[in-house]
Amino acid sequence: MTTHLPLAPLAELDTRGPAMFRFRRVGARVLVTNQEGRWLLLEPAEFDAFTRGKVAPGDALFERLKSHNFLRDHYDVRAAAAMLRARKRFLDSGPNLHMAVVTLRCNETCVYCHASRADLDAVHTDMTVETAEKMVDFIFRTTSPFITIEFQGGEPLVNFPVVKHIIVYALTKNRAAAKTLEFTMVSNLSLMDEDKLAYLIDHKVQICTSIDGPAAIHDKQRILPMASAFDTASRWIKRINEAYAAKGLDPTLYHVEALLTTTRATLPQWKEVVDTYVALGCRALFLRPVDPFGFAAKTGPKIEYPRAEYLAFYRRAVDYMLELNARGVEVLERYAAIFLTKILKGEDPNFLDVRWPAGAGLGALAYNHDGRIFTCDEGRMLDAMGDPTFQIGHVATSKYREVVGHETVRAVTIASNLEATPDCVDCTYLPYCGVPPSYSHKTQGTVFGRMRESALCQVHKGIQDYLFEKLGEGDPRTLKTFEQWTTNRPRDHFLQDRP
Ligand code: SF4
Ligand code: SF4
Repeated sequence: MTTHLPLAPLAELDTRGPAMFRFRRVGARVLVTNQEGRWLLLEPAEFDAFTRGKVAPGDALFERLKSHNFLRDHYDVRAAAAMLRARKRFLDSGPNLHMAVVTLRCNETCVYCHASRADLDAVHTDMTVETAEKMVDFIFRTTSPFITIEFQGGEPLVNFPVVKHIIVYALTKNRAAAKTLEFTMVSNLSLMDEDKLAYLIDHKVQICTSIDGPAAIHDKQRILPMASAFDTASRWIKRINEAYAAKGLDPTLYHVEALLTTTRATLPQWKEVVDTYVALGCRALFLRPVDPFGFAAKTGPKIEYPRAEYLAFYRRAVDYMLELNARGVEVLERYAAIFLTKILKGEDPNFLDVRWPAGAGLGALAYNHDGRIFTCDEGRMLDAMGDPTFQIGHVATSKYREVVGHETVRAVTIASNLEATPDCVDCTYLPYCGVPPSYSHKTQGTVFGRMRESALCQVHKGIQDYLFEKLGEGDPRTLKTFEQWTTNRPRDHFLQDRP
């Protein structure tokens, strides 16, 4: 347990009264969470009374503690089990996200490229039709009733014939498999044209891109020869959004989503970054810190920053987004939405990098252009840097059960169990958190993370501190916005027709 409070020593803890809890100071209060992720923000005097067993039945605090399952004598085991089951529902099925690296070739050169892109003449990094079919055959062996095939690269539009082949082949297979199937594509959009767009729209492929902030930052970090990467991406975002609208789709739900990679240059521009996204019609920002994978491992010294500076940036940017929402401009921050869904709804939105056990192998698989299978996209990136730790099979030779039951999948599953991870086991944020083992492996040389030295733990802790501070402040406009951020409006249009 973390304490910096002038509280009673733990020797005075009444072990008969309170049920299991973890605690942490947040602002002027003490946050307590329990096994199943219920929480309360207590005044220090309330916390003191709670831990000493001095809260009398009938007292308002007693009722709050009881209704949130913090009292041993009134502990509702069934309710706790139901909540835990709901939080871990993602374990019921098997891998649903399948990331297909259809080529490593790319026409952009990004300073932090996590994908280890290759030049446009590196045609040997294109996935072949034969490998693509074997990959789809493998994907359809998943025990999950849901399949999302995500086209990645490199730049997937470079190998568009194979993207089309995968779509047609998967749709054909799904006539018999009857899975809930969807396609997504992560593209820099610079090779988009009207024919490709028409095909993607007709086949309900959800399109996602990257925007690193205002044009000056974006173009400095994402270099497109002879053109502005920002202007090109912005133009196509607008055009794609028009195409959705022309189909009669609700623009508040159907629009291009973009991803941000926060570098040192981004930090002072928190307001400009948010304004850029709003101007482009993007209603969600994911304020992701730079990852240590791919080229970012080399360019790190130029683009990295202490995580305390990132957290200051995060607070300013989200404060500003809350202000915009209060003025009627809807824009959400994804990290906040992921954590808040777990905190306020008691559900897990199944974002694979912030859950435990981790999504690697259990919730997702990544397929390299040559048919090799990895636990996750980061594992594939590490392989491109010469570290094959996370390779778990090949689409041509591996059986499904060998892959999902691979010893590496077992290892990362064990390693990402926060209840067996030093520091996490005592952390108030355990019910809502998660750190991918591939991240710990890359940064610390072990899939078993040492969280007190982990920059990602620092980020997750700092974001959750911020969110609980805001919840504690209780501003009705903030609470309303947080509620909206946890409201999941499914984008059913992107689901393929069931046979
Ligand atoms: S990050 Fe994407 S767009 Fe940028 S160089 Fe790498 S593969 Fe290309
Ligand atoms: S990763 Fe860090 S913030 Fe998350 S549960 Fe573990 S110790 Fe807490």
